[in-house]
Amino acid sequence: MIITLKKEAPEKEVEKIRKNFEDKGLRVNMILGEEFNVFGLVGDTAHLDDRAIMANEWVENVQRVSAPYKLANRMFHPEDSVVDVAGIPVGGKSPIVIIGGPCSVESEEQVTRIAEEVKDAGGCMLRGGAYKPRTSPYAFQGLGYEGILDMVAARKKTGLPIVSELMSIDKLDEFEENVDLVQIGARNMQNYDLLKACGKLSKPVLLKRGMSATIEEWIMSAEYIMASGNPNVILCERGIRTFEKYTRNTLDLAVVPIIKEKTHLPIIIDPSHATGDWKYVEAVSLAAIAAGCDGLIVEVHDHPESAWSDGAQSLKPLKFKHLVDRARPIAEAVERSVR
Ligand code: PEP
Ligand code: MN
Repeated sequence: MIITLKKEAPEKEVEKIRKNFEDKGLRVNMILGEEFNVFGLVGDTAHLDDRAIMANEWVENVQRVSAPYKLANRMFHPEDSVVDVAGIPVGGKSPIVIIGGPCSVESEEQVTRIAEEVKDAGGCMLRGGAYKPRTSPYAFQGLGYEGILDMVAARKKTGLPIVSELMSIDKLDEFEENVDLVQIGARNMQNYDLLKACGKLSKPVLLKRGMSATIEEWIMSAEYIMASGNPNVILCERGIRTFEKYTRNTLDLAVVPIIKEKTHLPIIIDPSHATGDWKYVEAVSLAAIAAGCDGLIVEVHDHPESAWSDGAQSLKPLKFKHLVDRARPIAEAVERSVR
């Protein structure tokens, strides 16, 4: 961390600031210049509050030279993390995982039927929301625990591991017991109590990017889960809010190489929420694979016109199969395969 002090800072104030950092266990390298005095802090600065340092009237500027995240940082963990989801490896050189399933679980029959289609098409995990974060309180809110049990039944029938969204801490045990990959939705990406609770899970966590979150904020949310004891985090880009109206969200595809550069965590793409329109899902999925992602999570419904949520962005099973089939040669072109 580089701290620039005002030129007119009295010597005893400079000394006081220096001592304060040394008392925190940091080494302070001082450069006394014509215009400014500069402190270079060496040591673990993760606990320092930049804005609190700025509050000192003699401080001109505070600049971090390294990222504020440690556990997620590739610098301290050069090899890719491979996260195990019920025996399926995600990340590194592992085959790309394609997850499919309805936005919402509607019944045991519905989710089991779609699970079979997803499996036949080549999907390797089943998604399905039982607790739904809907914009309107009048919209369908999910079947709750019953929906989780329906997912469990679909897993039993097909063998596909299940992915579902956890919205509140009081359901933690329910998810620990039943769900293979615990999804934290875009709206809860900065629900820090929930993230800390996920640190206590033995199950891996799928952390979606908040719709207005910077990449650094998103990685810091992963850091929360990791710092709370759970290293098994998979990131999921699902599009961000921009001025564009032709798509529901704007897929930020550049995050794939950026996440790979900055972190060692696997990253998957959600082309369904990113576009909001089934017509664009396949193209965007293929592009995501070409960009180096570790998987896709795609909404699939056999009767999208009567789906209880997100029908407009859901692929019919046949179209999902088309996507999986076309994904294979693209994966090969980037030295991967599809599971
Ligand atoms: C979902 O996966 O159905 C969902 C609500 O996703 P997001 O949190 O990305 O909006
Ligand atoms: Mn959805």
